Amino acid sequence: MELYSGDAYLSIKSDLLGSDEEEEKYKSESGTQTQKCLSNKGKLSSNSIMKASISSGLKQIIPTNKPKRRRVKLMNWKRYHKLNVIYSFLDELERDYPAICTVSVIGKSVEGRDIKMLKISNSDASNAAVWLDASIHSREWISTAVVTYLAEFIAKNFQKHPNSITNKDWHIVPVLNPDGYVFSHTKDRMWRKNRAHHEGERVGVDLNRNFSYGWGNNGDQGSSGEPTNVFYRGPAPFSEPETAAVRDTILGSASPFKVFLSFHSYFELIIFPWGYKCEPCPDYLHLMEAGTVMARAIYECTGMIYKVGSTKDLTYFACGTSTDWSYAIAKIPYSFMIELRSKKYRFRLPKDQISETCIEISHAVTSLMDFIDNTKFKFKSKK
Ligand SMILES: [Zn+2]
Repeated sequence: MELYSGDAYLSIKSDLLGSDEEEEKYKSESGTQTQKCLSNKGKLSSNSIMKASISSGLKQIIPTNKPKRRRVKLMNWKRYHKLNVIYSFLDELERDYPAICTVSVIGKSVEGRDIKMLKISNSDASNAAVWLDASIHSREWISTAVVTYLAEFIAKNFQKHPNSITNKDWHIVPVLNPDGYVFSHTKDRMWRKNRAHHEGERVGVDLNRNFSYGWGNNGDQGSSGEPTNVFYRGPAPFSEPETAAVRDTILGSASPFKVFLSFHSYFELIIFPWGYKCEPCPDYLHLMEAGTVMARAIYECTGMIYKVGSTKDLTYFACGTSTDWSYAIAKIPYSFMIELRSKKYRFRLPKDQISETCIEISHAVTSLMDFIDNTKFKFKSKK
């Protein structure tokens, strides 16, 4: 009789299934009850048992209510996921935690895809805002895994988190460059830019060179004016809808942003402004301290060593970046770019390292929130 339970009926929504591969994966990862429902040849499925019951006059024991649909949850942190799975995951969080989770579309990509943002907030007017984005560079898939993990980590058991987590309005954009992300899953695994047309061709713009502050500085050292170049900065600052969506969301926010974390891979670094020039930013020492708090939390969690410093200290000139803009123009004091694992595997971080990377970064982010709330520091960059 257990098969008559509404929960035993499986409804796979076709829009949740990105491909045959995902459907097969779903089947193989599902439990025995699901396998019953998917009906092996030669065995009775739940539907066929119901029909048999009707024909044998057992109508009275069949529930009259429409069977409850069970949601198919494809999301996990054992593998990398396609865009539709990521977006369905955001919608599920909103359904599961409606009091604190809201999904909105902050803009459309060049090819018209939604740029979805999840906001997690208890709606306290005194909250400070935090920004987390990932996959501005589409091939850096681990970044999307990390911020989706953080989304679930924060939303689930929200009330059990310390004040330093619950007193923030979390703005989470897991795929800032959805066109590039889809392209990296379907055509070119190493695609970095968006999918914009410029000068008559679909060349793509490096979105992390398209922000206005320091845009185009240092010539070819900090970005490129050549459309086919991988660091092409675009024809003008904020020429791309994806970067404009970030600008408009942050500058239009009712609650002031205090933290901006943009996730990349693969250099294992925690970096802060400036990227467009060599000089230290006005709050260099304090940002070094805050970055070191995150690096220490990571080391204590997994033993991984992330270096901390300004963009130019640790990498190369990068002009027109989101973190230079967020710090200088949006006046977000704690602006960091976090380069995740791994120097060994570069962009192709093995999926068995996803979970550990997510956990070490969740320690870093929670430690940063605690540090911020317990620090009275007057930022020189703020008016
Ligand atoms: Zn990147």
